[in-house]
Amino acid sequence: MMDIRAVRMAPLVACVLWLGMCPALAQVQTNTPRDDVEVIVSPRESGTQSRVRDFFRSMKQRIASVTGQVLPFTKCEKWSVPKANLEAVKKEAAKRGVVVTELGADWNHVMRSAPADTQLNEKQRAIMELAKAGKATAGVKLMAAPPPAVLEHALMKDANNPAAPRDAGKITVALGDNRTKTIIRTGVEIKPDMCIWRGVVEETGALVTLMWWPNGRMAGTMQEPGRIYSIRHMGGPIYAMIEMGGDRMPQEHAPMPVRLRSDDPNARDDPLVNQGDASLLRPVTLGMRTPAPPALKQPQQKQVVAPPAAPGAADVVIDVIIAYTRKAAANYTDIKNELVDLSIEEANESFRMSGLGNIKLRLVHAYQTSYVEEGAHFDHVWRFADRGDGYMEEIHGLRDKHRADVAVLIVDDPQGCGLATRVYADADEAFAVVHHDCAALTYSVAHEIGHLIGARHEPTMDKVRTPFPYGHGYVNGTKWRDIMSYKESCDGCPRVPVWSNPKVLIKGEPAGTPQQDNARVISEQAARVAGFR
Ligand SMILES: [Zn+2]
Repeated sequence: MMDIRAVRMAPLVACVLWLGMCPALAQVQTNTPRDDVEVIVSPRESGTQSRVRDFFRSMKQRIASVTGQVLPFTKCEKWSVPKANLEAVKKEAAKRGVVVTELGADWNHVMRSAPADTQLNEKQRAIMELAKAGKATAGVKLMAAPPPAVLEHALMKDANNPAAPRDAGKITVALGDNRTKTIIRTGVEIKPDMCIWRGVVEETGALVTLMWWPNGRMAGTMQEPGRIYSIRHMGGPIYAMIEMGGDRMPQEHAPMPVRLRSDDPNARDDPLVNQGDASLLRPVTLGMRTPAPPALKQPQQKQVVAPPAAPGAADVVIDVIIAYTRKAAANYTDIKNELVDLSIEEANESFRMSGLGNIKLRLVHAYQTSYVEEGAHFDHVWRFADRGDGYMEEIHGLRDKHRADVAVLIVDDPQGCGLATRVYADADEAFAVVHHDCAALTYSVAHEIGHLIGARHEPTMDKVRTPFPYGHGYVNGTKWRDIMSYKESCDGCPRVPVWSNPKVLIKGEPAGTPQQDNARVISEQAARVAGFR
């Protein structure tokens, strides 16, 4: 199956910083007796982490062979204790308000089936019901994760040790129904308040992204052939594992609204589906509500050929503001962390995997809008973009205030995965709408922002050769398609998060041609978009 490790760089560099923060990790351990037991030591009450270090010093005086490592995020510790001393350590721990958890053979199982008697509160039940009712949902399972410190150990063990055996970075994730997946860590990126853990499924090479916070919370995705898994936090150690059928996911763009279709009933020629460009139907709707001021009317698309960015170019950062509706937010415990942040990270990973590592999206603000979804994606996106139409007027001030180059509205509307105002938008029309299920799982935030920058679909869907004749997606037979291509063009094959680029190889095969090189479009045009605000 897919193996794109060849084209990605595991961002383990960040772990060097992590090591620097934590000298205890550098401790050299030698001659560890075979009958040692590994345990995680954590305080019984949060906020009393200093008790763990004090406890270690005290035990070290009594049992010389005890060794310990600080887990830098949870500030708990992993100890190696002679088996003969384990009971004495546990007994002393209980007196000091410290908990000792033995690491068993399943120490790296980061997700297991939740206990059958798990009680859910009203909000959790509502999230489960919404997930089960989702159009793309094939199944929903209630899962449980280990305590935060055990989780940190499982995810981060030897992350900073390039000489560690491959097994050190393996975790096991249960999918329910006695199915499990072994995932090999490929990189960890440390952020100020959380980590992004990336890996591949051992047997298929499918991509896995986990976001992980020191309090033990996780959110993430696993891209299996024909299946996409969404991991959503339900509170405490409880998670929902939502299994979605790749064939049940909405198509990238919803067909044009029926009321606009009278002059072109042929859906195969639907410009929204083929081109993902909402400006094409714009003249039909002008006059239906207060028209935009003259300056905001459709600018003429120009044939632009900008010089390519120089190799080793400085970072180009596109600032993004994301609004979400109440309806979309209801699907998550915390939509900002679990979905908005994840969709930005997934977009950035797609740039890194496509030789565009200097281009980054940066979330500058996320908020819930009072907009009540009504109509089609076409309606949502123009209501979001238009000034003075009475819908989501706050976005324009917030966009200016936070200097966001691009604005994305996240909805719960599975008619399509998303829609941008136009391909190659100017500053006044750098707006897009995205269905929440697609935002991260099918990289639709990246896809729509790609349209705004100037990228088009693969040529079988979209034959338009402006503004960039080479600005098209790429499909490799029926093996895979890129971030801008349709599953219909490759018999339902999986999407890989790359931008078409003849210089990028996926399992030895190029991810584009000189005529299908959206990476070139992104490389040449990202700075234009990054300068919108
Ligand atoms: Zn599109």
